[in-house]
Amino acid sequence: MRAIRRFTVRPVLPEPLAPLGELVDNLRWSWHPETQDVFAAVDPDLWAATGHDPVRLLGAVSRARLDELAGDEAFLARLGASHADLASYLGGERWYQRAAATGAAAGEAWPASIAYFSPEFGITAVLPQYSGGLGILAGDHLKAASDLGAPIIGVGLLYRHGYFKQSLSREGWQQETYPLLDPDELPISLLREPSGERATISIAMPGGPDLVARIWVASVGRVPLLMLDTDVEGNPQAYVDVTDRLYGGTTEHRLRQELLLGVGGVKALRVYCRITGHPAPEVFHTNEGHAGFLGLERVRELTADPTGPGLDLDTALEVGRASTVFTTHTPVPAGIDRFPRTLVEQYFGEGGAVPGVPVERVLALGAEDYEGGDPGVFNMAVMGFRLAQRANGVSLLHGEVSRGMFNGLWPAFDEAEVPITSITNGVHAPTWVARDVFDLAAGQGAAKDGDDVDAFWQAVDAVPASEVWAAKRRMREALVLEARTRLRRSWARRGAAEAELGWVDDALDPDVLTIGFARRVPSYKRLTLMLRDPERLRALLLHPDRPVQLVIAGKSHPADDGGKRLIQELVRFADAADVRHRIVFLPNYDIAMAQPLYPGCDVWLNNPLRPYEACGTSGMKAALNGGLNLSILDGWWDEWFDGENGWAIPSADGVEDPDRRDDLEATALYDLIETQVAPRFYDVDADGVPTRWVEMLRHTLKSLGPKVLATRMVRDYVRRLYMPATEVARALNADYAGAVSLAQWKGRVRTGWGGVRVEHVESSGVGDAPEVGAVLSVRAFVALGSLAPDDVSVQLVHGRAGADDSLRQPVVTTLSVSETYEGGRFCFAGSVTLDAAGPFGYTVRVVPHHDLLASDAELGVVAYPA
Ligand SMILES: *Cc1c(COP(=O)(O)O)cnc(C)c1O
Repeated sequence: MRAIRRFTVRPVLPEPLAPLGELVDNLRWSWHPETQDVFAAVDPDLWAATGHDPVRLLGAVSRARLDELAGDEAFLARLGASHADLASYLGGERWYQRAAATGAAAGEAWPASIAYFSPEFGITAVLPQYSGGLGILAGDHLKAASDLGAPIIGVGLLYRHGYFKQSLSREGWQQETYPLLDPDELPISLLREPSGERATISIAMPGGPDLVARIWVASVGRVPLLMLDTDVEGNPQAYVDVTDRLYGGTTEHRLRQELLLGVGGVKALRVYCRITGHPAPEVFHTNEGHAGFLGLERVRELTADPTGPGLDLDTALEVGRASTVFTTHTPVPAGIDRFPRTLVEQYFGEGGAVPGVPVERVLALGAEDYEGGDPGVFNMAVMGFRLAQRANGVSLLHGEVSRGMFNGLWPAFDEAEVPITSITNGVHAPTWVARDVFDLAAGQGAAKDGDDVDAFWQAVDAVPASEVWAAKRRMREALVLEARTRLRRSWARRGAAEAELGWVDDALDPDVLTIGFARRVPSYKRLTLMLRDPERLRALLLHPDRPVQLVIAGKSHPADDGGKRLIQELVRFADAADVRHRIVFLPNYDIAMAQPLYPGCDVWLNNPLRPYEACGTSGMKAALNGGLNLSILDGWWDEWFDGENGWAIPSADGVEDPDRRDDLEATALYDLIETQVAPRFYDVDADGVPTRWVEMLRHTLKSLGPKVLATRMVRDYVRRLYMPATEVARALNADYAGAVSLAQWKGRVRTGWGGVRVEHVESSGVGDAPEVGAVLSVRAFVALGSLAPDDVSVQLVHGRAGADDSLRQPVVTTLSVSETYEGGRFCFAGSVTLDAAGPFGYTVRVVPHHDLLASDAELGVVAYPA
């Protein structure tokens, strides 16, 4: 029998338990074990049965039990303490408030608020709105911002089915299910107008009614996260389906989702700020290109909106750009969103989403109008770069790769000068570090949320090796037990009878070297590299004295049959009776599985095809739990591997034949495990402690602990991107006069650039055989046409010269006007001391100059000597 309607009856808490409701409503509990203890105390069995979901716990607990708790003094005291702790977390001054107070006094621009847009947010397993690393990163960004007091507002979508749940068929083929999420059973609340009516936003759609969305708010500690949802009465079914699931459906479906996220997201922010009095964002940060349409809505607000300032389009673009930060996340071209131009034309043309913004201008922003570009395509990353004055990749190496990948947008500049910087990702320690690890350091008096993060990771040094090792064993054992439970469940779903599953009780061993591998399954991550030589892997697993065991997990995108084949290949290997106690594939990788997985592993394996792993964060989480990384030098590992904190799998980058490359890298992987990793793990002292291993573990915590934190990452974003953006945005926004003049200046420079030439360069002071210490003086004769010397920077660019005369890591010295001639001609002069021996080279160039530009390459123009 099926119900014709369903709704959720919200529990009514007895008055003394009201604080419990507040604890549940703020997601801070998801990274605060002490609060989780309070939930567990409500009803330990229900807490476990609901998968540690406090909303469902309160929905399921009996009235009798609640009444009992309402009279339980000990419980009420604990509840009161947790509630007071939350209030102090939410109310007090934190890093941002303190730093901003001193900084503002010194004239620094600390934004009053920052909007952070992302198509997915991974905050807790009970709010499954993520598919993988991008979402987890977004969740960690919000949590770290909360810990630091950084005034961020998250903006995303609420997907009715989230991503998908993974299980396996008998044959090991991935099965997807899409359970319906009832918003009333999620830790979120509906945004309402003061009148009590639900708040909504709407977007004009081509040839149909407006698309309407309601707005949910999740409280992530101090940070609100707005989630748009089109499951609204009155929307046609096709619109209701816009927020059906993450990364599913047709290209048009995807475009509609991105329209809602970008355009709708800005509208939702305005509504939220109006209702709550929250300060308007001064910076708009887009986590990957999916939210890029936000820039178009902001242009509409500034140009066509009757309540806006009515700027012209170019001025509005300057205002929007100044306050926008774009983070690119993928060096895989297929990972970038590209839409047919015709589709974009349809949604942004007459009667479209941003009325008053000419569609030709919209199309131009996403046009691949560079060498090798596709004229029929609208590219979201390209638009992202054009609508953001500041852009970054997510590790040093990824920054470099991105500069190469997008050089076409700044063809006049060398790769190194492409204005894409990098900020390396980080992870949120309170979410990802096991309690056992925190307790080790806490025993040494280090507080985990103290400002002195170094002290925390150093503290482990003082803990005796035997204690460190005992903690690691406890965590490994917890993982083994968890894995057995999951394995049994998985086999039951695969149709095995209980009687066939006796072996599961002995699957994995809490004393065997445990290697973890878990992540999404796109081909570049090479899930099956370890199967390259199955016999060799089998020998490692079954080694009589030094066995290893592997715990593996990962979801393949539902449309990616290639990925599903890899999973099947792996599952089939792991199903074999001779190895199944040493290698397991656990279905449905998600936050709930990840949390015990990292601490339980001794080694974290990552073998992507270099350089396609933009950063990777799972290895960071492993490191914070005393796991040693065994990884290709890609993403963050390329930056922070120091020879002692793990192992680097040599990459065969230059080898063209992919099969041969895989062979070489797999062999290197087997060799490392056999000759280095396993011998060190099993090299134990009289007390059974592998002292050299524990040394590496300590070194990992000390060297990586402070670096891989999301709080470090958010501080970097604040200082290196949000503050400079705010400074320029304020200069442009005050009365828009700055923006008008910047837009006019850019127009003038672009028009006049044809007249800019370096006509002639003279030098003196170095003779034929200069020595270190010689001073090179340069005079450059430059024609500026209609431009003035103030409009440009004439630069002496110098450095070590390669055999082909290319300049390596060139240094820029600005020359100054020394003579003025008739007809817009000038002499610029300056000098530089030669302070290194060896081949030296220089050139002179002219680039546009304005105080509000973020880089010399911003306008894309430059003049070199003919
Ligand atoms: C950390 C994490 C990821 C990202 O892992 P990478 O190795 O960086 O791709 C994906 N999924 C979950 C559940 C995670 O916790």
